[in-house]
Amino acid sequence: MKMKALVKKYPERGLWMEMVDVPTPKEGEALVKIHKVAICGTDVHIYEWNDWAQKTIKTPMTIGHEWVGEIVEINGVTNAFKVGDLVSGEGHVVCGKCRNCRAGRLHLCPNTQGIGVNRTGIFAEYACIPLTNLWLCDPSIPEEMYAIFDPYGNATHTALSFGMVGEDVLITGAGPIGIMAAAICKHVGARNVVLTDLIDYRLELAKKVCPDVVTVNTKNESLEDVCKKLGMKEGFDIGLEMSGNGRALNSMIDSMINGGKIALLGIQNPGTVVDWNKIVFGCLQLKGIYGREMFETWHKMTTMLQSGLDISNVITHRLPFDEFEKGFELMLSGNSGKIVLEL
Ligand code: NAD
Ligand code: ZN
Repeated sequence: MKMKALVKKYPERGLWMEMVDVPTPKEGEALVKIHKVAICGTDVHIYEWNDWAQKTIKTPMTIGHEWVGEIVEINGVTNAFKVGDLVSGEGHVVCGKCRNCRAGRLHLCPNTQGIGVNRTGIFAEYACIPLTNLWLCDPSIPEEMYAIFDPYGNATHTALSFGMVGEDVLITGAGPIGIMAAAICKHVGARNVVLTDLIDYRLELAKKVCPDVVTVNTKNESLEDVCKKLGMKEGFDIGLEMSGNGRALNSMIDSMINGGKIALLGIQNPGTVVDWNKIVFGCLQLKGIYGREMFETWHKMTTMLQSGLDISNVITHRLPFDEFEKGFELMLSGNSGKIVLEL
């Protein structure tokens, strides 16, 4: 049987909608009929064929890792899932053998393989997913939200890194992840949440998702002025770096209270320089973030949506799968939040 799949066919700019064989699940895998997918910045890098993609992606390969779908076949023994279940899933496949995996710290596995990056992705009508990576969708949450659980998980993992109650938080980068993180910080009890970007569209979108966030276009306004206006005297207690921009990172380091805590999600360019002595004398704590905690983050994502967190407005566009090209161009323009493709 054949199916449609979005394939990085050639080592050059672009993606190709191809007819490929429906895969057969190996032992320990489920075959999933994909309902909806979402486009990630990583997919855009693969589409553009930048330096990172050229080094990382082996063509031809089906890409994509943000999805929701339905189990149609299970090869293996499980009491957690059955055919017909609505599922989403973790995009990081871990080894199960290393020290961290054996200790249950799966997000720290050094042998992590990314679905749609290091192995076949899910931008297709069907995909094989390891049973260990599936997440059962609770019917109380709209199906569409599960298509973005992967990036919502990055936001959640980062935002829940440190105690939030009553804290003043700086988030640099109002991409979809920064915006979702801002809403989470407010939901779990932060005092001031300040979110920066250089693109007004993104900051306006942030306001639509989370009206209580203080948005700042740092092209026009300094963080110092914003802190003064908010009556903050000693700087931010918590920083979440979500832009991947060195200038934003340095402005964050400059704006922290002594002893402040910073979680780093944004992927910095090689050669990014920081003044280490500001971290030393400011007694700052830094924490790197990769992916999501399996599956504590997924549990928190579910329960926060069930207890009133609303991030639905971060999805700005819904397109048929065949119109993927439009989705990628929208992502490149910066004038979008999450884009969902419907199969
Ligand atoms: P995105 O590219 O959509 O958002 C980044 C935002 O930062 C953009 O809106 C951009 O305008 C803004 N920005 C750029 N320079 C800035 C500056 N100087 N000050 C303030 N804002 C600035 O990305 P996203 O999908 O929201 O992801 C956020 C970051 O997290 C990216 O760097 C991405 O690569 C990274 N990421 C990391 C992981 C991980 O596991 N560590 C997972 C997913 C994404
Ligand atoms: Zn491992």
